[in-house]
Formats: sequence, C-alpha cells, structure tokens
Amino acid sequence: MNIESILIVGGGLAGFTVAQNLRSRGYAGRLDIIDPAGTPYDRPPLSKGYLLGDKDAAGIELAPASWFAEHQVGLVAATVDALDLEPLGVELSDGRKLRADRLVLATGGSARPLPIPGGDLDSVLVLRNREDADRLRSKIVPGMRLAIVGAGLIGAEVASSARQLGAEVTLVDPVDPPLVPAVGPELARRLHAMHADAGITVIHGSPVGIARTQAGHRLELADGQVVESDEVLVGIGIIPNTELAQAAGLETDNGVLVDANQRTSHPGVYAVGDMARTRRPNGTLLRRGEHWEYAMNTGATAAAAILEQELPVHGASWFWSDRHGTHVEGVGAMNGEGTTILRISAGEPVAAFRIAGDGRMLGAAAIDGGLTIKAARRIIDRGIVVKASALADPDMPLKKLAR
Ligand SMILES: Cc1cc2nc3c(=O)[nH]c(=O)nc-3n(C[C@H](O)[C@H](O)[C@H](O)COP(=O)(O)OP(=O)(O)OC[C@H]3O[C@@H](n4cnc5c(N)ncnc54)[C@H](O)[C@@H]3O)c2cc1C
Repeated sequence: MNIESILIVGGGLAGFTVAQNLRSRGYAGRLDIIDPAGTPYDRPPLSKGYLLGDKDAAGIELAPASWFAEHQVGLVAATVDALDLEPLGVELSDGRKLRADRLVLATGGSARPLPIPGGDLDSVLVLRNREDADRLRSKIVPGMRLAIVGAGLIGAEVASSARQLGAEVTLVDPVDPPLVPAVGPELARRLHAMHADAGITVIHGSPVGIARTQAGHRLELADGQVVESDEVLVGIGIIPNTELAQAAGLETDNGVLVDANQRTSHPGVYAVGDMARTRRPNGTLLRRGEHWEYAMNTGATAAAAILEQELPVHGASWFWSDRHGTHVEGVGAMNGEGTTILRISAGEPVAAFRIAGDGRMLGAAAIDGGLTIKAARRIIDRGIVVKASALADPDMPLKKLAR
C-alpha cells in the first residue's frame, strides 16, 4: 500500500525523531504530530539547565518552528482521546477525527505516584514535563525546604539543582545506595555520597505517609522518622502511557508490545520511546528503555520500518545523568552475570566494567569519563575481549583497547 499519511501521537523526543527520520528518509506524504504541548521539546534539561534557569523554553525545543514549516510536519496541539483501528485514525479531545495510513504511538510515561496515604495530594510535586518544571521552579527560593522521595536519576538531579538554587534539601530513598543496577555498587556509593558533601540531608528510609501541615508537608517514614518540608517532590520512576493502546485492543504489558520493527500487534500501528516494550519472536519481553537515546533509536527504527527500508543498527544502550558538577554515563548492562573490574583514580572509583565469564564486556559506567564510555561501547558492540589489568589501569586510555 502506498503510504500517504502518517499520524504521530505524542511529540516528545521519540515522536519527533520518527518525523525527522521519515522526512530524512524521503517520505513526502502527509505527516502530523499530535501533542497538547505543541512544539516538541527535550526533557533532560528539565531537571538540569532549565530548572536552574540556564535555558529557557525556546532553548529546549527540539527544533525551531521554521523546521516544522520547512519539512511540512504539522503540529496539532490537541490530546488524543481514542485510537481507531478500522480504519486507522484518532479521535481528538475537541471532537475531531483524523485518519491516516499509519499511526505511531509515542505518548511516553507519567510520573509513578507514591502508593501511600497522601501520595496523591495535588500539592505533591513530580517532574515529567515543562509545566511540572515551571511549578517546581516557582517553589524553589533560597532557604525553602524541599523533601525529595527517590534518589535515582531524576530525584538526584533535582536535589543537586535545588541545592544550587539555595534550597534546604532532604533526599529520601529506601535503597542505599540507589542506582546499583545502572552503575554498579561502587560508583553508586560514590555518587550517593556526593549529596551529603553538597549539604543535602540524605535519609535511608521508606515513606509511609504524606500530610499537609500549616507550614507545608510532613513526610512520615516507616521507622518513625518525620521530615517536615515546604514541598515534597516524588521521583520514583514512570508508568508507561498505554491507556489509548489498551482501550483500542492493542497488546500491552507494562508498555505497548512491539517487535523489532517497533510494530505493535496491529500491522499499521507502531510504538516508540518510553512507552514501547519489545517482545522477541520467542515471546521474551525485554525491559523497557526509559532513556533519551532509546527514544531516538526506537524512533529511527520505526521510521525505517514504516518505509520498508533497512533498519538502523543500534549498539548497547546508553544513558547519562548530571549532578553536583559531575557527569555520569553508563552503557550496556551492569547487572548481568559476571564480575566487575574497577578503575580507581586518586583513591576513588572512576569507572566500573562488567565482564562475562568468557571475557566479553557486558556493561560499563563512569563518572566524568565520557571517552571511557565511548570506547567501552565499541568494546561491547564488537565483542572485543580486553585484559582485566588494562581495564583497571587508570592511565590506560580505553580507546587504545577498543581497536
Ligand atoms: C526531567 C527528566 C530528565 C531526564 N534526564 C535524562 C538524562 O539525563 N539522560 C537520559 O538518558 N534520559 C533522561 N530522561 C529521559 C528521557 O528524557 C526520556 O526517556 C525521553 O524523553 C522519552 O521520550 P518519549 O518521546 O518516549 O516520551 P516523552 O518525552 O514523555 O513524550 C511523550 C509525549 O506524548 C504526549 N502525549 C501523552 N499522551 C498523549 C495523548 N493522549 N495525546 C497526545 N499526546 C500525548 C506528551 O504530552 C509528551 O509530550 C529524562 C526525563 C525527564 C522527565
């Protein structure tokens, strides 16, 4: 079938990347992105530069308005209320119905609510979109007390930014240290220790209730500790936005299920980014990626698949995070079966490499080691076997080992 129209539901990074790749791959038909947020913007700065005020709304847009005009990508500022599968199309909240030859779902995720009494209070802050960031930013003034539940990626980044803005921050997490699956225990411990060094109160504990008080909020922990604060922010992960797909009868399981083409259980509907979950031909369900590059990669794959072109090859998964002036990167899997080799410099772990029994590298993580991770990625993708002593040597540039 000749494809003459494509509708993308959700204009975050994944949806935008689909549009960008469709055009760069030569698709000349009708192409629209539907998102109430309007012009697509990037989310990582929301907990970093945008929250700090270093970037404004225009500074985080994924492309200027002129790009959409030039590439004839329509931006429909509306919410999709329902998907139609026969014939393919969407129903918008304003009552309009739009038809297309292909649909791409890119609705991302919503902040996971804290399942405790008070976790659903309107005053409890989350950080998923620009409005959330604006609301959070408006509350942060020097000396205000911010309690953050969840010290993973977003909680830790907000703690760091809020501290820079002069807030008195308390960071609560039931896991000590957080992030072990992503960076391994040694780097996780070092990263977590940075919070206390920055003047943040770090509490290891499980929240059991949030209540409003005259002064703000009261967070109760299972061991009886109480954190009094002006505001509470919860950053404990996301729930994929699968409601539309589910209501339409597409297969879902903690994500909209897709094959290697990002195709859902309906041949004309694709899903990408945070909300998509790959099911292998043997039925194995992969972990959903919830990172920036995964959104880009899945978007690029969907565009190629829709146009029946060769699929791009993506290497090991990669993410980054910034906090307290340090840059963290991870590639591959740090929690696979194997052993860890540490690289230590000036008495501190700076990188960790996860090595399988056959000597292949499964994953790597580094603090302020972008080049190390770039080389590690090459080593992982090419299955290069590297000597443990060389990996542990902080004076050995990993690039030399990646050849
Ligand atoms: C604060 C923050 C910081 C982050 N920092 C990092 C980082 O440092 N490194 C990293 O690797 N990753 C980071 N991430 C993760 C990364 O940004 C996400 O993985 C990526 O944005 C996912 O893109 P997406 O397009 O799948 O979803 P989203 O970016 O969530 O976009 C989904 C879009 O769908 C729209 N939508 C939802 N429902 C509907 C509907 N019914 N109708 C129409 N539109 C709809 C929404 O409005 C939204 O614009 C961060 C995320 C956040 C929130």
